[in-house]
Amino acid sequence: MKIGVLFGTRPEVIKCIPVVLEAKRRGHKVVTIFTGQHREMALPLLSFFDIAVDISLNVMKENQTLSGLSQRVLEGLDENKTVLQELDVLLVQGDTTSAFTGAYWGFVNQIKIGHIEAGLRTYNLAGPFPEEGNRQLISKISSFHFAPTELAKDCLYNEGIRNGVRVVGNTSIDMVKNVSEKISLGSSNEKRILVTAHRRENFDGGIDRICDAIMALAKDYPDYQITFPVHKNPNVRTIVNNKLEGFSNIRLTEPMDYLEFVTEMTRSSFIISDSGGVQEEAPSIGKKVIVLRDETERMEAVEAGFCFLVGTNVEKILLKSQELMKNSDEDKNSNVCTVYGDGKAASKIIDELELSKKEISI
Ligand code: UDP
Repeated sequence: MKIGVLFGTRPEVIKCIPVVLEAKRRGHKVVTIFTGQHREMALPLLSFFDIAVDISLNVMKENQTLSGLSQRVLEGLDENKTVLQELDVLLVQGDTTSAFTGAYWGFVNQIKIGHIEAGLRTYNLAGPFPEEGNRQLISKISSFHFAPTELAKDCLYNEGIRNGVRVVGNTSIDMVKNVSEKISLGSSNEKRILVTAHRRENFDGGIDRICDAIMALAKDYPDYQITFPVHKNPNVRTIVNNKLEGFSNIRLTEPMDYLEFVTEMTRSSFIISDSGGVQEEAPSIGKKVIVLRDETERMEAVEAGFCFLVGTNVEKILLKSQELMKNSDEDKNSNVCTVYGDGKAASKIIDELELSKKEISI
């Protein structure tokens, strides 16, 4: 088969790598399409896994709009139409504007679309924006819907999308399992908190409040080491650096490479984050997450007691942190949460594509 895989942001790259590797392992021809958003973070990771970029779209411009970015994705794909129209399927992942635009391009060019991580929903088009809209739109024009959980499948079914839906788990778990096997950690009783924050919904005051909470934690709990890899987005970086520089127990770093980040998650007592991917990965390695969002499309880990939705309210962040600090010794040995899969999602995705190809040729 000829399988196209489109990605551009860090989480897309992380979640597509297992699929690319599995497709190649089984001898399929893979065409990788890099839209170019997180070049610095993505390219080293791809080369670590020996994955070449076949088509590079380079869509990023300073102060770009989402519509401008969409236009450049469409034009870039058009320029590579000769190669792309031979694809049996074009895979897109998640919920970015480039994933939706890539799916739309495939749709109008009559290429089958496979959606990795299908069926996540908040049903609030304003939150997360524009991701919720992107997800719903991708579902409408895809032929294969690789749902990570039963809940995601149910959302698709309730929307009348039933053909081509398969629950496979999340490829983020394939990746985190693969990488955590490569990490060797001595036994550590360190008190560590890992923090990340980058979401657009939190730009309007949320990042400020998150920093106020981290500052209070650093002052009140000097025995805890707080590590905060700061996202490159200036909306995040300026505020975080202004508020949190100069504390002896806060370590502000550049975004970490994936191996380093998984190591840091593994060493943490707990994690404070607004990241989608972290809400899947951390529970799967037994870590609890204070989620800096009011709502999430990843309710499974909330229901399993691994993630706690507190939004960006300073008091709530502090109270939950205090609770997890008290419990953290027990939690170090807590079970892992398996709601997001068994680490074999990529293999199930390729199984499904192979099966459909067979059915077509019969
Ligand atoms: N991540 C990383 N380095 C960091 C922070 C996060 O490699 O410094 C990884 C993390 O393990 C997860 C992904 O990046 O796989 C999450 O990306 P992000 O939070 O940017 O996006 P989201 O998941 O919210 O879409």
